[in-house]
Amino acid sequence: MINIFAEANCNRYVRDECQYCHVYEPLMQIPKSDWHLMPEHAQIMVDKILQMEVFRELAKREINLTGGEPSQNPHIVEIFKIFRKLTPNVRIHTNLDISSAASPRWQRLVEIMKMLGRVDFTLYPTVWESRQKPLLKEILGLQDELIVNMIFEKVPDLLSQIEILISFFEEQEKKFESVLSLLGTYRTKLENLIGENPECDEEAFLKHMEGTDNYICTDNFTFGLNMIPGFYVDKNGERAMNAQPFPKDINFLECTIPRGTIEIITVQQTGEITPCCDVGNLKCQPKFGNLLNDSPDEIMSQVEVSRKKMVSGALKNHQNINSGKAGEWVEEGIPPYCV
Ligand code: SF4
Repeated sequence: MINIFAEANCNRYVRDECQYCHVYEPLMQIPKSDWHLMPEHAQIMVDKILQMEVFRELAKREINLTGGEPSQNPHIVEIFKIFRKLTPNVRIHTNLDISSAASPRWQRLVEIMKMLGRVDFTLYPTVWESRQKPLLKEILGLQDELIVNMIFEKVPDLLSQIEILISFFEEQEKKFESVLSLLGTYRTKLENLIGENPECDEEAFLKHMEGTDNYICTDNFTFGLNMIPGFYVDKNGERAMNAQPFPKDINFLECTIPRGTIEIITVQQTGEITPCCDVGNLKCQPKFGNLLNDSPDEIMSQVEVSRKKMVSGALKNHQNINSGKAGEWVEEGIPPYCV
């Protein structure tokens, strides 16, 4: 899967200026609204991706156009068409914080859905009723798939977002019964957990939720839930590795690269390719080169150099964690809790 920054200013809205957002710190440096990915840059990216097998295969699985808020990009429809040459699975991640169906941002999303692109959104309870809910109804009429991202700071907060979705789908047609059944399972499990163990740690949470599917797929609709713990990034750009819902636990990142696979890459505004989902908040130093400026050969040799650093760095992180030095940065420049 490849994530591509298409637009930079989503969390530059005063309303959304949330320091727990993983793109808060990386985007903090960028002036409020003067950056958009341009179609000619998208074309350069596609041409290069096609020349590198490992990235070509990742792109076939899925391209996520993200940001910031990609619906703000006036060229997003054109950009969507360019990336669709790599895969039919081009997704747009929106905050759906859109004032009305007359907004040009909404019109762009409609155009993309009509060309079989999929729009996924992040649930924001503060703007759910007034802005997201009416447009989500429209989305359900235009596409037969949906992923809802939910960022939660506490387990009761996750439950309240599940309840928002249940109320919404109860008002929709019968076709969404399976969605309600999935959401109902989450509601029951979360209610039981909060009742029995309100201060649960992450391990207890994961054990309790073990085996619960986060998607359903029926003949006429596919629905997925993506639940993301909120993280605080301080003013120096350090991301607390203590997940907010479980503040006593360190959050370890299991890096797939030392295990021999690249599962996901992110292309930042500069064209810089960062491994995994690091949009700049994790400060992972080994990069994969620059998709706009470097040749495919240069990028592939940089991948190899960085892979070796990650193998060595992950080993040292293990040693540090086991010898009471958890949290120390190693010279390979990978975050201390990547293992
Ligand atoms: S070392 Fe950590 S930040 Fe870097 S690619 Fe691996 S998981 Fe991502």
